[in-house]
Amino acid sequence: MGRRKKIVEQCERLMDQPEQIRNIAIAAHIDHGKTTLTDNLLAGAGMISEDLAGEQLAMDTEEDEQERGITIDAANVSMTHNYQDKDYLINLIDTPGHVDFGGDVTRAMRAVDGALVVVDAVEGTMPQTETVVRQALRENVKPALFINKVDRLINELQEGPEEMQERLQEVIRDVNELIRGMAEERYEEDNWKVSVQDGTVAFGSALYNWAISAPSMAETGIDFGDVIEMERNDKRAELHKQSPLSDVVLDMVAEHFPNPVDAQPDRIPTVWRGDDSTQLAEDMQMVNKDGEVVFMVTDISMDPHAGEIATGRVFSGTLREGQELYVSGTAGKNRLQSVGVFMGGEREEVDSVPAGNVASVTGLKDAIAGSTVSSVEMTPFESIEHISEPVITKS
Ligand code: GDP
Repeated sequence: MGRRKKIVEQCERLMDQPEQIRNIAIAAHIDHGKTTLTDNLLAGAGMISEDLAGEQLAMDTEEDEQERGITIDAANVSMTHNYQDKDYLINLIDTPGHVDFGGDVTRAMRAVDGALVVVDAVEGTMPQTETVVRQALRENVKPALFINKVDRLINELQEGPEEMQERLQEVIRDVNELIRGMAEERYEEDNWKVSVQDGTVAFGSALYNWAISAPSMAETGIDFGDVIEMERNDKRAELHKQSPLSDVVLDMVAEHFPNPVDAQPDRIPTVWRGDDSTQLAEDMQMVNKDGEVVFMVTDISMDPHAGEIATGRVFSGTLREGQELYVSGTAGKNRLQSVGVFMGGEREEVDSVPAGNVASVTGLKDAIAGSTVSSVEMTPFESIEHISEPVITKS
């Protein structure tokens, strides 16, 4: 059996085990390394070729984005990862890194349970870091921190261990101040504070494809001293081999971000304003794959073969081809033509996608980013005005 087919089968198996799923977003200021990180996570998970990572820019799907060099489309990918002898399905929803797209960031945050905050070690936390962390916390999404571009501290700034430590601690302090300010109860009581000791902070270089964290240091023996030595002596390939970025970061994701079963009871009351005493509310909180279908669309993209694709989170029920579903804000129903998931940058069609997953479907001709798609009429996640003519808001 081909490698890709194996991965597809593994994903399909994991889709039915919500405890093994992590739905996450990467939150970062522009240029802090979200795209490079995503590509190397995908490559490490075997979803794209290692050689292409970095060049391929898997998440930057829109031509417009590549031209402008910024990520504006909330494209999304899925990957599998083995951690402590268990397989995990990690669904990554991309958040726009540009300040103008704040609304899209909020929407992406509604669909995930964990936010990997990426901060450039040299620049430190920036205004957009603060904005995206606030958006995550407002949507009750748990943060963890990846401090990127640590290679630059060593090679460009020629920093020694003490200077480096001071700088990295400042980033951790800044992020924690934000978390405490926005979500004090979570910070104090639920241990949402990010900490090196707890393993909710990792350091590394997305470009050179290595990372370390307290748990990885205990496992591999590679510590900051080794990193400095190997970076300085041009032994990056060796460093990547001994402490690969994808293992360190995806281990952190599997260990510290909640699965949908643990997350949805807390998150539904935050992201959905409907009546919480109804069966529908219970179906969503319990991630009931046999309940009514509730699918929140975060992104619409164009596939040259399949046409318009709606991607989003299945909060309840199971999506299947042929279902007739309501689309919030429109009259009548749309028929699902196909159901799939993204793997790497490619969409794979599957028979069904149950609650707790991120799905990408075709046939929802009336849906737009932000639509609530459901088998019964319901209070939508977002109230959206459908606009048929483009509205120019800025000159
Ligand atoms: P995004 O805007 O957050 O998606 O950032 P990109 O992933 O496009 O990275 C922005 C720039 O920083 C690119 O030139 C990358 O090659 C570079 N970059 C990303 N990660 C690292 C890193 O760990 N070390 C160094 N030195 N450069 C990096």
